[in-house]
Amino acid sequence: MEDKCKVIAVANQKGGVGKTTTAVNLGVALGHLGKKVLLIDADPQGSLTRSCKIDNPDDLEVTLSELMACEMSGEDKDYILINDAIKHFENVDLIPSNIALSGTETALFNCMSRESVLKRTIEPLRNHYDVIIADCMPSLGMMTINALVAADSVIIPCEPSFLSVKGLDLLLHSISRIKRQINPDLKIDGVLMTMVDSRTNNAKDITKAVRDAMGININVFNIEIPHSVRATECPNVGESIFTHDPKGKVAEAYAILAREVIALERKTQVRPRPYGVR
Ligand code: ADP
Ligand code: MG
Repeated sequence: MEDKCKVIAVANQKGGVGKTTTAVNLGVALGHLGKKVLLIDADPQGSLTRSCKIDNPDDLEVTLSELMACEMSGEDKDYILINDAIKHFENVDLIPSNIALSGTETALFNCMSRESVLKRTIEPLRNHYDVIIADCMPSLGMMTINALVAADSVIIPCEPSFLSVKGLDLLLHSISRIKRQINPDLKIDGVLMTMVDSRTNNAKDITKAVRDAMGININVFNIEIPHSVRATECPNVGESIFTHDPKGKVAEAYAILAREVIALERKTQVRPRPYGVR
């Protein structure tokens, strides 16, 4: 069976740049475009899990942590276990996480092929989804490396501040090392400017600086996610922006991003021209 699934890691070692917000809302937007989407919370803080209306992640019995532990111990991967972990939120599925994942990250250090545990854990799910989105934690530790090894591509949210832009170098360096050493097919879908307040000159200057610095080698998405108070309310109410403020500019921006992500996919697919057609 042809593998049509695309795994996207949403990564940036800096916290508070909009990774979790992007994972949820890009996921729901892709769902609206008819894609079957699975979100994976790869952050022990469980922000994605909470954003998906699960109020007490620590009460969950089966989370990403148990699935990865099972993979590490070499036990027969029990499909029922995966199904036990999967939750539903609006039009997407979710593998939640809680604080137990920080223990998993420590356990990874002593395990064989430690960089590819997440990749092997989600392998059986690829046939069931069009897109799997992993929300990374704010570090370049073993869990984020696992997400980047499991991924086909990475989206890098970046807020328009001087320090965020400086931090991109470190992340890009790590990505290229992972690409060289473990996952040669890893692509950078692009840098996504988030929380952009277009009224301030500072945001405009920094956004332009990012575009100039990335040059032609690394895509910076044309669409920028505007700053909006409505977006900050979403995690509290456990709704995506499409439910909370469907007509707002942030919903509109994530809908456009979803179309850009799908368009990227088409561009990278090699389509042989049928014989006889010029
Ligand atoms: P990260 O996952 O990188 O730590 P989050 O997605 O949790 O970042 O976002 C950090 C904070 O910024 C959260 O309080 C979130 O609600 C808020 N936020 C995210 N996107 C926007 C936006 N477009 N406008 C305003 N606030 C936002
Ligand atoms: Mg987060």
